[in-house]
This record gives sequence, C-alpha cells and structure tokens, in this order.
Amino acid sequence: MKIIDSHVHIYPEFLKKERDKIAAREPWFDLLTSSKVQKWGVAEELIEAMDAAGIESSFATTFAFRDIGLCREMNDYLFDAAKRFAGRITPLAVVPPTDAGAPAEAERAFDMGAAGIGELFPDGQGFDMADASQLRALCEMCRERGKFIMFHTAEQAGHSYAGKGAYGAREAAAFCRNFPLVRVIFAHFGGGLWAFSAMPEMRLLMVNARFDTAAWPWLYEPRVMDAIFAVGAGDKIFFGSDWPILGFERYAKLIGKTSLAEEEKSALLGGSAEKFLRQEP
Ligand SMILES: [Zn+2]
Repeated sequence: MKIIDSHVHIYPEFLKKERDKIAAREPWFDLLTSSKVQKWGVAEELIEAMDAAGIESSFATTFAFRDIGLCREMNDYLFDAAKRFAGRITPLAVVPPTDAGAPAEAERAFDMGAAGIGELFPDGQGFDMADASQLRALCEMCRERGKFIMFHTAEQAGHSYAGKGAYGAREAAAFCRNFPLVRVIFAHFGGGLWAFSAMPEMRLLMVNARFDTAAWPWLYEPRVMDAIFAVGAGDKIFFGSDWPILGFERYAKLIGKTSLAEEEKSALLGGSAEKFLRQEP
C-alpha cells in the first residue's frame, strides 16, 4: 500500500534559533511555538520519520507568516528540500493572501514546482476565509495554474486549545460557495464540513473540496472515520499527520479501530490524495 501523508510541516534551523525574535512580530507563531505540544523538524528528520513509517511521500508545508519576506524564506527552504528529496516531498508554499505581493510569490512558487498553497492560517495571517474579495487574486491564480489551497480549519465546538482558531465548517462552506472551482483541502476534518456531504446542494458545492485527518488523535474517536465513509465523503478524506507534532503510529492505531474495508483504508492512506494530485475527480 502506497502511503501519502498529506499534511506535514518542516522548519529551517534558523526558525528555531531565532524563535523569540520572530515571535515578537508574529503573534500566531508565538502562540503555536510556545504551546506544550510544539515540536520542530527539519527536512532530514521528516524523511527519517517517513522511512520508519513506510510513507512514500508527504505534502509538506512550513509556517504561514503574516510577513511576506518570511514566507519567501520558508518557500526557499521548502523548494531546496523538495529538490534534495525529490519524489518524497510535495511542496506547499506559503503566502499572506491579502498582501499585495501574494500573487507574485504564488506564481514564483508554482514556477518552482509547488503543488499548492498552504497551510494558510486565517486567524494567524489576519484574513477572512469567507470573504471572496480577500482571496480572489490568489484563487484565480490557483485555478489558472491547476494548483490547490490548503486552509487551517477547526471544529467550532469542544475544548479550546492554542491554534484552534475561529474558522470552521461555516467559513469553509462560504469559501466553497465563493470559489466552487478552486481545489481546496480543509485541514483538521474541515471543522466538520464533511458532515454536510449529506446535503445535496452542499455536495455539489464541495465537489473540489477535500479534508485531512490532522490532529485526529487529539480530537475524535475512531468511529468518526466510519461516519465519514457512511455519509459518502470517504473519497474526500486524506490521511495527514501534522508531523512533527504527531506521528504515523497514532493514526495507524486509530485506523485499526475503524470498520473500514481494505480498499477504503488504502484510499484514506494515499489513494485519494494521489488522485487529487493528478486532478482526477
Ligand atoms: Zn498543520
């Protein structure tokens, strides 16, 4: 079985070294990196972890800053890593969507081989996922170039935690309504958006939307996955770990406790993400 991890982060060494200096001007980075679950990881460590878990390739992103200069530095590191580990790292570039320079940086990233843009943080980067005017330029570029966007979303119920943010299923649905033709991944189960696959009009709007499992061990019981398949959204959910803060083993354990058939497990663990990359329906 070919395993694809659709959600990992890698960080250049200088980010850890200059953490305090950067945190002073990037409040979301400050919040996330002072959390007790924070872990750092460079590209080499990611590849080691992937080898140990039998993961063939990963959609890798870095950290989405407000500052476009920092985003550029993140992207440079990512493209270098993707070149060094060709075939193992599928790069996702970061840009602050409302910055005037965002479309140009996205264009540069696509020219360098980025498969998409993400994981963007609406709360952290100060944009509104539901406001079409803020995202139009970036979305048009993604559509033109056949690329996708990944957004951080979270369940707007349950316990609160650092980095949860205020964007969930409602805002993700608004994005789908504004940009139904843009291919998009909503991280962390889309904050529950998958459940609306049982509404005919939402199923239509979400034709280009996908979800990932990042943070599953901290959020949901195994049976959430049975529910996702039961509601007809099983082809929309990708295994994503959020490495380095969580590793593959925790997810393997959860998947083992579901009632998924073998072919459903293989779709979840990579088959569906592979199709998405190939732009197959
Ligand atoms: Zn993440």
